[in-house]
Amino acid sequence: MVKIKIENMSFAYRKVPVLKNLDIKIRAGQLTAIIGPNGSGKSTLLKCINGILPVKKGEILVDEKSTVSFTRRHLATIMAYVPQQETQVFSGTVYETILMGRKPYIGWSQKPEDYEIINQVMNDLDLNSISSEFLNELSGGQRQRVLIGRALAQQPEILLLDEPTANLDLKHQLEVMQILKDLSHKGITVILAIHDLNMAAKYCNELIMLDKGKTFATGDRSILDENNIKSLYEVEVKILGYGNDNIIIPLKAIK
Ligand code: ADP
Ligand code: MG
Repeated sequence: MVKIKIENMSFAYRKVPVLKNLDIKIRAGQLTAIIGPNGSGKSTLLKCINGILPVKKGEILVDEKSTVSFTRRHLATIMAYVPQQETQVFSGTVYETILMGRKPYIGWSQKPEDYEIINQVMNDLDLNSISSEFLNELSGGQRQRVLIGRALAQQPEILLLDEPTANLDLKHQLEVMQILKDLSHKGITVILAIHDLNMAAKYCNELIMLDKGKTFATGDRSILDENNIKSLYEVEVKILGYGNDNIIIPLKAIK
């Protein structure tokens, strides 16, 4: 089932075109990676889907309904967005941060069911032991778990994340990817921008390759082949099979 349909969508910052005539279908309950070189438009695409940036040309449909007619609050009950970490300024405790995720539903007066949802999220993401710690004093891996928790407190059908594994050590990268994979298995449509092609190949079942604001290729992990990677990133790579995984080894930059 298609959850999000992007139809002939373009986006420009002032006069500079950044996304160009995109036609993309994103299936429900999958873990979809948006990949592409720096500046190819990954973050912009996530912000357009989420409604942070207004789309003026083309359309984004969720469950066949155009999102332009949705209020911001309604949109926030359908999709949640985890921005790149360095843009975080909120400095409350872990619990307060998760509580903020309920805002689209409650304004600022909570009902018992809001606390139930928050407790569920705290349990699911193993946050109880750090409940009263301050967000800006946590390690990167803990903080990312909290930010995912805040998004989940919105009970979204769609979860968007901008480079959720950037700046994390290997163990915490795996931990975050596994959390996202599990969420997709529960039926949440998870879409993330990611640089690490090996992580994308290992965890994501759908990939969207962006090249200068256009779709270069879409499909399953088989589109991560030596030729596509060479054209898109201007690097030579060797791909080796290892069990069920493909390992992408960068060899050298072209030029
Ligand atoms: P990516 O996330 O793939 O690195 P971005 O979506 O951040 O790419 O950026 C795509 C292009 O849009 C880049 O050329 C970037 O310089 C430009 N851009 C990004 N944000 C802004 C902005 N707020 N104002 C103007 N141009 C921007
Ligand atoms: Mg980006």
